Amino acid sequence: MPARPLCSLCLRGSFPPMKTIFQKIIDREIPAKIAHEDEHCVAIHDISPQAPVHVLVIPKKLIPRIAEAQIDDQAVLGHLLLSAAAVAKKLGLEAGGFRVVINNGRDGGETVPHLHVHVLGGRPLAWPPG
Ligand code: AMP
Repeated sequence: MPARPLCSLCLRGSFPPMKTIFQKIIDREIPAKIAHEDEHCVAIHDISPQAPVHVLVIPKKLIPRIAEAQIDDQAVLGHLLLSAAAVAKKLGLEAGGFRVVINNGRDGGETVPHLHVHVLGGRPLAWPPG
């Protein structure tokens, strides 16, 4: 019998692929506090905020992480950044400033394998990050 197919979208090689927590939020299977939604992305308040404002902007298309984005994803990636700036403005961060972060892989601190852009603000943020 042939081995099960593996793909970058499968979590721990499961087949069919398991949904990520963010896919379940997008599909309204679990609740989240939504800050913004449009055709291409959803922005939710982080469940464990690291700043007074901590929002995640998540593409509806499942791109596991930025290192796996493809040239076809260019428009979605641009949309994510523009949406991050728009959400920051909507939540009152424009004047004081804010930080946009994408964690990639183990050393980058990624814990959910579904691309997301962190938007953090509402207090001065240290640099470099830990
Ligand atoms: P990362 O470590 O960059 O992959 O970021 C994942 C983020 O998702 C963390 O900041 C978590 O606190 C956040 N998170 C995990 N589960 C949920 C959830 N159910 N609702 C909102 N945020 C979540």
